[in-house]
Amino acid sequence: MKIKTIEPFILHLPLTSDSISDSTHSITHWAVVGAAITTDDGLTGYGFTGTHAHLASDRLITACIRDCYAPLLIDEDASDISRLWTKLARYPSLQWVGRAGITQLALAAVDVALWDLKSKKAGLPLWSYLGGARTEKLEAYNTDIGWLSFSRDELIAGATRAVEDEGFTRIKVKVGHDDPNADVVRLAALRARLGPDVRIAIDGNGKWDLPTCQRFCERARDLDIYWFEEPLWYDDVGSHAVLARNTSIPIALGEQLYTVDAFRSFIEARAVAYVQPDVTRLGGITEYIQVADLALANRLPVVPHAGEMSQVHVHLSYWHPASTILEYIPWIKDHFEEPANVREGVYLRPQQPGASTTPLAASFERYGKSLS
Ligand SMILES: [Mg+2]
Repeated sequence: MKIKTIEPFILHLPLTSDSISDSTHSITHWAVVGAAITTDDGLTGYGFTGTHAHLASDRLITACIRDCYAPLLIDEDASDISRLWTKLARYPSLQWVGRAGITQLALAAVDVALWDLKSKKAGLPLWSYLGGARTEKLEAYNTDIGWLSFSRDELIAGATRAVEDEGFTRIKVKVGHDDPNADVVRLAALRARLGPDVRIAIDGNGKWDLPTCQRFCERARDLDIYWFEEPLWYDDVGSHAVLARNTSIPIALGEQLYTVDAFRSFIEARAVAYVQPDVTRLGGITEYIQVADLALANRLPVVPHAGEMSQVHVHLSYWHPASTILEYIPWIKDHFEEPANVREGVYLRPQQPGASTTPLAASFERYGKSLS
């Protein structure tokens, strides 16, 4: 499996609604920024990271793939993923400027493409290649009903539809108004409408400070919140540890953490209950497995963040024993040869060889962006 070509690409895919906001971001498109790696036996693997479709920074990622990583990969054996990961991640000049941000997002894309290639070569879906399924049913939770930009009525109508018509028993709702009481009122109305059996997680996207979070958690104590995701600034281990000690609501985080070392800091500080790695932010599947193993050794559940909208995490969650449930956001799935689909609140288990990362030719044609 000698690597012959590495072709970066950028797709800007429209959301299923015109735009959405959480406490920190407002977006109209999700970007699939990645690489197609072709070997001398004619196979092509696809891997990508996920961004907010900001073309200038997307081009920094593809430039890193094309100019920094590709020369290190040409004529290498694609099946040596561990060795190639180390070659890229620990290449001295890139390590100097990297270990997070653009270089790590680019590494994620390359690593996922290598795993896609290797499982395609084996003729197996990635979950099967990695060791087989841990469960028959991987439950999904729906994030797409809960944006902060939705009015209270829209939130309740969407959540009700997801539960009563589509079979979801788990949802996630964004919080982060300037006045946290506004979030408590929304959540109380939602809980009253849905009843006690639906699992409701919330997500603050890192906006509030510690006193605001503590005040909010006190007021939300009786709403049976499943977890509070990213309550505080992403890198602030100490404040998360204080909050975790002072509230009965479990803390979830990880979507903004770039390394296994960052996860270890939060876990050692007992600052996280639900571990949320993302292959598109870590150095791909290779580093995701390290984080999932770390969580397993600490008896913590893994609930990936869907930066690739679960195309890859559906495989990892069907396989890795620390996995529990998986996020569902249906924005980009129909742009892939094997979409990450959910029926009655359960993810369909992928059947095609590979990591479900091959985009449709029509999507390249319609939504592809130039690299310069
Ligand atoms: Mg989140």
